[in-house]
Amino acid sequence: MEMNENIKNTFIENLRKQGIKNKQVLDSMSSISREMFIEPALRMRAYDQDALPIGHSQTISSPFIVAKMTEEIFEQDNMNKVLEIGTGCGYQTAILATLFKKVITVERIKALHEKSQKILHELEMKNIKFIHANGFDGYENESPYDAIILTAAPKKIPDSLIRQLSLNGRMILPLGDDGSQKLFRLKKTRTGVNKKDLDDVRFVPMLDGVV
Ligand code: SAH
Repeated sequence: MEMNENIKNTFIENLRKQGIKNKQVLDSMSSISREMFIEPALRMRAYDQDALPIGHSQTISSPFIVAKMTEEIFEQDNMNKVLEIGTGCGYQTAILATLFKKVITVERIKALHEKSQKILHELEMKNIKFIHANGFDGYENESPYDAIILTAAPKKIPDSLIRQLSLNGRMILPLGDDGSQKLFRLKKTRTGVNKKDLDDVRFVPMLDGVV
């Protein structure tokens, strides 16, 4: 099933209206069919601006949040390696794979890790490495990363992730508990880590261990 042109144009126009400006990010969002990552019963809602359930009490983030987080870590000429914590259904992973040379994505729920891998394999995206592990540890073997993105919210920023960020590396993450979370953008510089807070958000919590 291919994205209908009209639906696609409205989808991208909505992202623009919500403030997404980066042309490469918008092109990427228009090139990946979100419906591929969604259960058949919910597919008619694939291009609404909503978060949707993907099973195992998890959700695919809203298109705006996916675009916004991607835009925040985008830095032309500094797009080698990205680490994603929380593969989920793999939609954000696919967007990242069109923009970065290599994506390392970590998921703690085995069923989601396997399912997303299958879909992205069907889409013939070959620059993605899938890891079934606890994302609190990051993924040392492939570090350092130009960018790190968390799609589940920890209560505090894991030190291991800061360590695995390269100089000039960017990190975007939701931070806080279930009641109140904010999106933060970090940048590692020679003198330390700059931190900027963005919008209030609602993500599933980052959990320990693997299942
Ligand atoms: N980007 C995903 C978002 C899925 S929701 C999507 O668009 O589908 C967040 C995901 O983070 C869930 O799949 C959840 O299982 C995963 N997650 C939560 N804690 C984690 C951890 N410690 N390590 C790895 N993944 C984690």
